[in-house]
Amino acid sequence: MMTALDSPPVGVVLDDIVRNHRPRSAAGSVPRGIPHLSSPPFDRFGIAVATTSGEVFSSGDADVPFSIQSISKVFSLAMALGAGNPDALWSRVLREPSGTSFNSLVQLEVEHGIPRNPFINAGALVVTDHLMEKSPDAAAEVLRFLAGQVGHRNEGKGPFIDELAAGTELAHSSRNLALAHFLTDFGNLRRPAQAVVENYVRQCSIMMSCTEVAKAGLFLAQDGQGAQGTVVSPSQAKRICSIMLTCGMYDAAGEFAFRVGLPGKSGVGGGILVIVPGECSICVWSPRLDSKGNSLAGTAALADLSDRTGWSVF
Ligand code: GLU
Repeated sequence: MMTALDSPPVGVVLDDIVRNHRPRSAAGSVPRGIPHLSSPPFDRFGIAVATTSGEVFSSGDADVPFSIQSISKVFSLAMALGAGNPDALWSRVLREPSGTSFNSLVQLEVEHGIPRNPFINAGALVVTDHLMEKSPDAAAEVLRFLAGQVGHRNEGKGPFIDELAAGTELAHSSRNLALAHFLTDFGNLRRPAQAVVENYVRQCSIMMSCTEVAKAGLFLAQDGQGAQGTVVSPSQAKRICSIMLTCGMYDAAGEFAFRVGLPGKSGVGGGILVIVPGECSICVWSPRLDSKGNSLAGTAALADLSDRTGWSVF
């Protein structure tokens, strides 16, 4: 672990990370099937760190909003657990890495409609369905929660849902709809499949900057305490981080743990949220992805940052 005497200030380290990791070519890929994510500038790169002592450091394109996509699954899970009766949710979704792609249908069929974990699409659909029992517009609830953590409660500021992008993605959501119908058939979805997928896709289409995502994730580094009080209990915060470590990076959770040594959750918009328990929450964003769907430059930057700072759970 770095000490105050032998380490440069965090802001200086972040500037250096941006200099070294901002992509210089269009290496990597963009997601298929989500039209609005098909042509982002390849050289976008931002990073932000929100600390438990209340400081926020950032560099590069850290204030440019991007599509958080599957990072939203961390927040909807926390909201579902924080609302009480976690056992009801855990009877409907497991906590095992899936070993298959995030939107696979095969495993769900073989395993009788119980998704492996809340971060694959089938699991996230169950979480959304669970949230919809309390509030039919679950995506708006997730947005409200995020705005509260970030400290923006005014219209036109802070996180927002890109409704146009959500609409376009919905028109290409045959696979997510198929997953939802499978879940319905197995008795593991209570709301209509179409409504659940709509809420899920709108939640994925939330736009936030690295600075905002880092602030929003800070409760996980603070035993569940967020900007507006308790989000989840300390034990639930620990468990969410555990699921991030084992299931947060698609089919590359092992490789990410090996390189970075921290719980993380990535989205196909190129963002990655990483938690250093007790220390800080980090968000990096760069849109081009590796073969597993994780930000190419973002993953490399986090490995570098972890090595330089000693931030790791190991
Ligand atoms: N909205 C995307 C989907 O459901 C999310 C993908 C992701 O970021 O993992 O396919």
